[in-house]
Amino acid sequence: MVDGGLVDLADVLREYDVALAQAVAGHLRLVVQARAASARCPACGVASGHVCSRYWRVAADVTTFGLQLQLQIRARRFRCHNPACPRRVFAERLPGLPAWARRSERVSNLLAYTALSVGGLPGQRVAALYGLHYSRQTLLRAACRLTLAAPQTVRVLGVDDYAYRRGRTYGTLLYDWETRRVIDLLPERSAVFLASWLKAHPGVEIISRDRGGIYAEGAREGAPAAIQVADRFHLMQNLGDCLERIAQKGIRLQPVPDPTPPPQPPSRPPSRAEQAKLATRARRQQRQDTIRELFQQGASIGGVAGKPSRRAPSAASCSKDAPTAGGTAPGQRRC
Ligand SMILES: [Zn+2]
Repeated sequence: MVDGGLVDLADVLREYDVALAQAVAGHLRLVVQARAASARCPACGVASGHVCSRYWRVAADVTTFGLQLQLQIRARRFRCHNPACPRRVFAERLPGLPAWARRSERVSNLLAYTALSVGGLPGQRVAALYGLHYSRQTLLRAACRLTLAAPQTVRVLGVDDYAYRRGRTYGTLLYDWETRRVIDLLPERSAVFLASWLKAHPGVEIISRDRGGIYAEGAREGAPAAIQVADRFHLMQNLGDCLERIAQKGIRLQPVPDPTPPPQPPSRPPSRAEQAKLATRARRQQRQDTIRELFQQGASIGGVAGKPSRRAPSAASCSKDAPTAGGTAPGQRRC
C-alpha cells in the first residue's frame, strides 16, 4: 500500500478475499475467505493444500464509520498427509482471529487495555463509546488473557492483593517497583505461592508488602536476605489506626515545642530605680574584689574590716551569689 495513493479494500485486509460487504442491523458485515491456498497442521506443522470441507465462522471486529465490523468467514478444513501425525483433519488458523474466538484480536486487545487502564465497569462505558458493547466481566477476562512479558530480575518487588471477588476470593499481585509494571499474578493469597515465586526468581533485595503476616512469612521463607518494608498506603493506614486509638483513649497530645526562640522585645533604657540597683551591685562587687585582694596580700581581718574579729570572713560568705544557709553565722560579719 502506497502512502497518498488510492486504497483498495483488499489491500487493507491483506490476508482475506472479500466476497461481499453489506450493512445488516447496525453492523457492517464482510463475507471473507482466507487468501492463502494452504495451511499448516497445528499438530505437526506440515503444510497441506487438500481442502476437505468448509464451514462458517462469525467474529466481531472493531467499529468502522459507526458500524461494528462483523466478519463472516468461509473457513476451511484441511487434510493432513503426514503419516506420523495423529491428526487427520485440521481447521485452518485464521490471521487475527484465534481458534474458537468470537471476536478478533483487535477487539480483545482494545477491551483488555481499556480494562487495564480504567478498570472493569468504567472500561465497559468507555468501550461502549467505541461501539463495543461488552460486559465488565468480558473486559476483565480479556485483560487476564494478556500474555505478560517474561519477568526479568526484580530488585524491588511489590506484593499486594487483587480481588477475583471482592471480600471473598483474592490473589496476589506482584509488580516491579522500579519500572512500575505488573510482572506476575499468583492465583492465591498465600505464603506458599509467594515463597515459591521468590525461590524461582532470585535477586529480590527489597520487598514492599502490606501489614499482613501471610506475605511476611512467604518473604522470609522465599527470600530471607531481602529487606521487608511496608508500602506507602499501609504506612498511612498505620498512622490512621494509631491516631484512632489515641482518640479513643482520650489521650491529650502535648504540643511540640517550637525549636526557634521567641522574638525578644526591643531593649529599652533602664529606669532610674534600675540604674540605682545596678550601681549598688557594682559597688558591692568592687568591695568584694578589694577584700579578696587584701587577704591575698596578707592583710589581717581587723586591717580589712577596720576593727578586730575572731574569724576571717570567707570569700564566699561575702558574695551575694553564694549565701550561707540560715543567714549570717555568729561572729561572721556581713560585708
Ligand atoms: Zn499433521
